[in-house]
Amino acid sequence: MKIAEVHTHILDHPLDTAFESASMHFSRRQHCLVEIVCDDGTTGWGECLGPARPNAAVVAAYATALVGRDPLETEKLWLALYNRLRDQGQRGLTVTALSGIDIALWDIKGKRFGVPISILLGGRFRENVRAYATGSFRREGVDRVEDIAREVAGYRDEGFHAVKIKIGFDVEEDLRVIEAVRDAIGPDLRLMIDANHGYDYLEAVEVGRRAAKFGVDWFEEPVLPEHLSAYRAVRADQPIPVAGGETWHGRYAMQEPLATRAVDILQPDICGVGGFTEIRRVADMAALHGVRLVPHVWGTAVCIAASLQCMAALPPNPPRRDPIEPILEFDRTENPFRQAVVRTPIEHVGGVVAIPDGPGLGIEIDREALQRYALEEA
Ligand SMILES: [Mg+2]
Repeated sequence: MKIAEVHTHILDHPLDTAFESASMHFSRRQHCLVEIVCDDGTTGWGECLGPARPNAAVVAAYATALVGRDPLETEKLWLALYNRLRDQGQRGLTVTALSGIDIALWDIKGKRFGVPISILLGGRFRENVRAYATGSFRREGVDRVEDIAREVAGYRDEGFHAVKIKIGFDVEEDLRVIEAVRDAIGPDLRLMIDANHGYDYLEAVEVGRRAAKFGVDWFEEPVLPEHLSAYRAVRADQPIPVAGGETWHGRYAMQEPLATRAVDILQPDICGVGGFTEIRRVADMAALHGVRLVPHVWGTAVCIAASLQCMAALPPNPPRRDPIEPILEFDRTENPFRQAVVRTPIEHVGGVVAIPDGPGLGIEIDREALQRYALEEA
């Protein structure tokens, strides 16, 4: 079996209502899928985290090095592609694009052997995971406190055991939001806060100290991802466990945060950190340092399926019969193609998501949906 073709699919949807985190404004949803076709007709799918068109351009730059190669040689191909752009790469788009390719190659490998990727990774420790709802982005002209309290109460009613809300805008308003959310969901649901690196050190410590009484599980991306000493200071100077890692791509980017204990919870994204090949190494590194790993997930059902295959194979650390982690991030924002791209949507039932057990990623792509949401080039 040889790789014959490498394609990208840029999916696009203009949002009815734009929304924003502390670091990003979303007026459209755009994601980049990778399709790798082999000479025997086997097709693998992957997804890249981050801006779709730049990711597609990097995938195209890698494609010539893939055609004619054996898709089962995932480690050799990963290194060949990484070396190709290493001198100007190492992090960012070069690794997010590589992630989408690597996921597609593992999908092919699973289909070749007729087993889910989680079996190839060593076996399934779990058949389902609890999901947490991510929502509460800021929307124009809406009172954040009331709107977000109403929104998260809906997640509680759907059965989610945990919700993550967006902060990082304004210290006082964010604290009012956190208090209103805790009131709305009651004392038993887990609550996480995500600043999307919108604070500096002083603001983050202020929020952490004052928000702790509302029972917060983790404080995600409190400060800029490059400021690891600020991460460590935030971790030391306020009581909420610190989480981060969605913008650290590749094992080298994870090394210092783990070795210097900048985070309590590491959040690699399989579509950004380097695919299955690299997230395995990152999971081992986190386990080596006794740091909890909870993957970041932000994409279509392809990304969710890849994350689930990875989570199925993550060893419980420490071993428990019913580990509370990892939990699956479940994006609740508007994205009509998130589940439309697959024939069987990966949905939650009462806040629990079953891990697909079909070959490869365990999904079947709906090509008609890819056409429907294809980016129309200007
Ligand atoms: Mg985040």
